[in-house]
Amino acid sequence: MTQLIASIIWVAGMIIWLIIRLPHRRRARKAKVVAHRRSASERIALGSCIVGLVVVPLAWMFSDLLEFADYTFRPLQGWIGLVTMAAFLILFHLSHAHLAKNWSVTLELRADHELVDTGVYSRIRHPMYTSFSLWGLAQLFLIPNWFAGTAGLAAVAWLYFSRVGEEEEMMREHFGKAYDAYCKRTGRLLPKIN
Ligand code: SAH
Repeated sequence: MTQLIASIIWVAGMIIWLIIRLPHRRRARKAKVVAHRRSASERIALGSCIVGLVVVPLAWMFSDLLEFADYTFRPLQGWIGLVTMAAFLILFHLSHAHLAKNWSVTLELRADHELVDTGVYSRIRHPMYTSFSLWGLAQLFLIPNWFAGTAGLAAVAWLYFSRVGEEEEMMREHFGKAYDAYCKRTGRLLPKIN
Protein backbone atom coordinates (compact mmCIF):
# COMPACT_ATOMS: atom_id res chain seq x y z
CA MET A 1 0.00 0.00 0.00
CA THR A 2 1.39 3.40 -1.00
CA GLN A 3 0.58 6.88 0.23
CA LEU A 4 -1.18 7.65 -3.07
CA ILE A 5 -3.44 4.60 -2.78
CA ALA A 6 -4.26 5.52 0.84
CA SER A 7 -5.31 9.00 -0.34
CA ILE A 8 -7.43 7.48 -3.13
CA ILE A 9 -9.16 5.24 -0.53
CA TRP A 10 -9.91 8.32 1.58
CA VAL A 11 -11.41 10.22 -1.42
CA ALA A 12 -13.43 7.15 -2.49
CA GLY A 13 -14.79 6.79 1.07
CA MET A 14 -15.90 10.41 1.08
CA ILE A 15 -17.65 10.03 -2.28
CA ILE A 16 -19.45 6.85 -1.14
CA TRP A 17 -20.48 8.65 2.09
CA LEU A 18 -22.08 11.39 -0.07
CA ILE A 19 -23.84 8.86 -2.31
CA ILE A 20 -25.33 7.08 0.73
CA ARG A 21 -26.35 10.32 2.45
CA LEU A 22 -27.84 12.47 -0.35
CA PRO A 23 -31.15 10.62 -0.89
CA HIS A 24 -31.81 10.65 2.87
CA ARG A 25 -31.15 14.39 3.01
CA ARG A 26 -33.57 15.01 0.19
CA ARG A 27 -36.29 12.96 1.87
CA ALA A 28 -35.64 14.49 5.32
CA ARG A 29 -36.26 18.02 3.98
CA LYS A 30 -39.88 17.11 3.17
CA ALA A 31 -40.70 15.57 6.59
CA LYS A 32 -43.05 17.26 9.05
CA VAL A 33 -41.22 18.16 12.28
CA VAL A 34 -43.16 18.17 15.58
CA ALA A 35 -40.32 18.94 18.02
CA HIS A 36 -36.67 19.87 17.76
CA ARG A 37 -33.53 20.76 19.75
CA ARG A 38 -31.79 22.73 17.05
CA SER A 39 -29.34 25.34 18.34
CA ALA A 40 -26.47 27.49 17.13
CA SER A 41 -23.96 25.35 19.04
CA GLU A 42 -25.30 22.18 17.36
CA ARG A 43 -24.89 23.85 13.95
CA ILE A 44 -21.31 24.83 14.81
CA ALA A 45 -20.49 21.29 15.95
CA LEU A 46 -21.98 19.87 12.70
CA GLY A 47 -19.97 22.42 10.69
CA SER A 48 -16.81 21.41 12.54
CA CYS A 49 -17.36 17.82 11.34
CA ILE A 50 -17.42 18.97 7.71
CA VAL A 51 -14.24 20.96 8.36
CA GLY A 52 -12.46 18.17 10.28
CA LEU A 53 -13.57 15.23 8.13
CA VAL A 54 -13.61 16.83 4.68
CA VAL A 55 -12.03 20.30 4.38
CA VAL A 56 -8.83 19.69 6.41
CA PRO A 57 -7.94 16.39 4.64
CA LEU A 58 -8.57 18.05 1.25
CA ALA A 59 -6.37 20.99 2.28
CA TRP A 60 -3.65 18.51 3.25
CA MET A 61 -3.97 16.68 -0.09
CA PHE A 62 -4.09 19.66 -2.41
CA SER A 63 -1.87 22.27 -0.72
CA ASP A 64 1.32 22.40 1.32
CA LEU A 65 -0.27 24.35 4.18
CA LEU A 66 -0.09 21.43 6.61
CA GLU A 67 3.27 20.04 5.51
CA PHE A 68 4.82 20.99 8.88
CA ALA A 69 2.92 18.10 10.54
CA ASP A 70 3.73 15.36 7.99
CA TYR A 71 5.35 12.08 9.06
CA THR A 72 6.51 9.02 7.10
CA PHE A 73 3.67 6.82 5.82
CA ARG A 74 3.84 3.10 6.65
CA PRO A 75 2.02 0.56 4.41
CA LEU A 76 0.40 -1.19 7.41
CA GLN A 77 -1.43 1.96 8.45
CA GLY A 78 -2.91 2.15 4.93
CA TRP A 79 -4.33 -1.38 5.23
CA ILE A 80 -5.79 -0.64 8.67
CA GLY A 81 -7.26 2.57 7.21
CA LEU A 82 -8.87 0.62 4.36
CA VAL A 83 -10.55 -1.86 6.74
CA THR A 84 -11.70 0.95 9.06
CA MET A 85 -13.10 2.97 6.13
CA ALA A 86 -15.02 -0.09 4.88
CA ALA A 87 -16.41 -0.69 8.40
CA PHE A 88 -17.50 2.98 8.55
CA LEU A 89 -19.36 2.81 5.23
CA ILE A 90 -21.11 -0.47 6.08
CA LEU A 91 -22.25 0.75 9.51
CA PHE A 92 -23.23 4.17 8.11
CA HIS A 93 -25.35 2.55 5.39
CA LEU A 94 -27.01 0.14 7.86
CA SER A 95 -27.80 2.98 10.31
CA HIS A 96 -29.54 4.94 7.56
CA ALA A 97 -31.35 1.85 6.31
CA HIS A 98 -32.75 1.06 9.78
CA LEU A 99 -33.45 4.63 10.92
CA ALA A 100 -35.06 5.39 7.51
CA LYS A 101 -37.61 8.24 7.72
CA ASN A 102 -36.78 8.87 11.40
CA TRP A 103 -33.33 10.28 10.50
CA SER A 104 -32.53 14.01 10.53
CA VAL A 105 -29.30 16.07 10.37
CA THR A 106 -30.23 18.17 13.39
CA LEU A 107 -32.09 16.93 16.46
CA GLU A 108 -35.75 16.60 15.41
CA LEU A 109 -38.82 14.45 15.96
CA ARG A 110 -41.16 13.69 13.07
CA ALA A 111 -44.99 13.63 13.06
CA ASP A 112 -45.01 9.81 12.88
CA HIS A 113 -41.68 9.21 14.62
CA GLU A 114 -41.04 5.60 15.60
CA LEU A 115 -38.51 4.37 18.15
CA VAL A 116 -36.22 2.14 16.11
CA ASP A 117 -34.77 -0.75 18.15
CA THR A 118 -33.99 -3.29 15.45
CA GLY A 119 -30.96 -4.13 13.31
CA VAL A 120 -27.89 -2.10 14.25
CA TYR A 121 -30.12 -0.24 16.76
CA SER A 122 -30.92 -3.39 18.72
CA ARG A 123 -27.77 -3.23 20.88
CA ILE A 124 -26.32 0.23 20.17
CA ARG A 125 -28.25 3.51 20.60
CA HIS A 126 -25.98 5.63 18.38
CA PRO A 127 -24.52 3.43 15.63
CA MET A 128 -24.32 6.40 13.24
CA TYR A 129 -22.05 8.21 15.71
CA THR A 130 -20.04 4.98 16.03
CA SER A 131 -19.71 4.98 12.24
CA PHE A 132 -18.50 8.60 12.22
CA SER A 133 -15.88 7.67 14.84
CA LEU A 134 -14.71 4.93 12.47
CA TRP A 135 -14.45 7.50 9.67
CA GLY A 136 -12.31 9.68 11.96
CA LEU A 137 -10.14 6.64 12.77
CA ALA A 138 -9.79 5.77 9.07
CA GLN A 139 -8.60 9.33 8.46
CA LEU A 140 -6.04 8.95 11.26
CA PHE A 141 -4.57 5.89 9.53
CA LEU A 142 -4.85 7.02 5.89
CA ILE A 143 -3.39 10.51 6.29
CA PRO A 144 0.21 10.66 7.57
CA ASN A 145 -0.06 14.11 9.08
CA TRP A 146 -0.56 14.74 12.79
CA PHE A 147 -2.92 17.67 12.24
CA ALA A 148 -5.02 16.49 9.26
CA GLY A 149 -5.06 12.90 10.57
CA THR A 150 -6.57 13.77 13.94
CA ALA A 151 -8.89 16.63 12.85
CA GLY A 152 -11.80 14.31 12.00
CA LEU A 153 -11.75 12.41 15.31
CA ALA A 154 -11.57 15.68 17.27
CA ALA A 155 -14.59 17.10 15.42
CA VAL A 156 -16.63 13.90 15.82
CA ALA A 157 -15.82 13.86 19.57
CA TRP A 158 -17.01 17.45 19.86
CA LEU A 159 -20.28 16.69 18.02
CA TYR A 160 -20.87 13.54 20.05
CA PHE A 161 -20.26 15.02 23.50
CA SER A 162 -22.19 18.22 22.79
CA ARG A 163 -25.20 16.41 21.33
CA VAL A 164 -25.76 12.94 22.76
CA GLY A 165 -27.21 14.11 26.10
CA GLU A 166 -29.68 16.48 24.38
CA GLU A 167 -30.67 13.81 21.89
CA GLU A 168 -31.39 11.23 24.57
CA GLU A 169 -33.36 13.78 26.61
CA MET A 170 -35.48 14.61 23.55
CA MET A 171 -36.13 10.92 22.88
CA ARG A 172 -36.96 10.28 26.56
CA GLU A 173 -39.46 13.17 26.63
CA HIS A 174 -41.24 11.77 23.59
CA PHE A 175 -41.07 8.01 24.13
CA GLY A 176 -41.02 7.92 27.97
CA LYS A 177 -40.70 4.46 29.55
CA ALA A 178 -40.16 2.75 26.19
CA TYR A 179 -36.95 4.79 25.76
CA ASP A 180 -35.79 4.05 29.33
CA ALA A 181 -36.24 0.35 28.67
CA TYR A 182 -34.40 0.69 25.34
CA CYS A 183 -31.48 2.43 27.12
CA LYS A 184 -31.27 -0.45 29.60
CA ARG A 185 -30.70 -3.02 26.87
CA THR A 186 -28.29 -0.96 24.71
CA GLY A 187 -24.91 0.78 24.91
CA ARG A 188 -24.29 4.24 23.50
CA LEU A 189 -21.52 3.57 20.96
CA LEU A 190 -20.70 -0.09 21.56
CA PRO A 191 -23.03 -3.06 22.09
CA LYS A 192 -24.06 -3.63 25.66
CA ILE A 193 -22.68 -6.89 27.00
CA ASN A 194 -25.24 -8.42 29.38
N1 SAH B 1 -27.90 9.04 17.34
C1 SAH B 1 -28.37 8.14 16.32
C2 SAH B 1 -29.14 8.86 15.21
C3 SAH B 1 -28.46 10.05 14.64
S1 SAH B 1 -29.54 10.97 13.56
C4 SAH B 1 -27.20 7.34 15.79
O1 SAH B 1 -26.06 7.72 16.05
O2 SAH B 1 -27.42 6.33 15.12
C5 SAH B 1 -30.36 12.00 14.73
C6 SAH B 1 -31.87 11.79 14.79
O3 SAH B 1 -32.16 10.44 14.91
C7 SAH B 1 -32.46 12.47 16.03
O4 SAH B 1 -33.01 13.70 15.65
C8 SAH B 1 -33.51 11.50 16.55
O5 SAH B 1 -34.80 12.01 16.30
C9 SAH B 1 -33.33 10.26 15.70
N2 SAH B 1 -33.12 9.03 16.49
C10 SAH B 1 -32.04 8.72 17.23
N3 SAH B 1 -32.16 7.47 17.77
C11 SAH B 1 -33.36 6.99 17.32
C12 SAH B 1 -34.06 5.76 17.49
N4 SAH B 1 -33.57 4.76 18.22
N5 SAH B 1 -35.26 5.63 16.88
C13 SAH B 1 -35.77 6.64 16.13
N6 SAH B 1 -35.18 7.81 15.93
C14 SAH B 1 -33.97 7.98 16.50
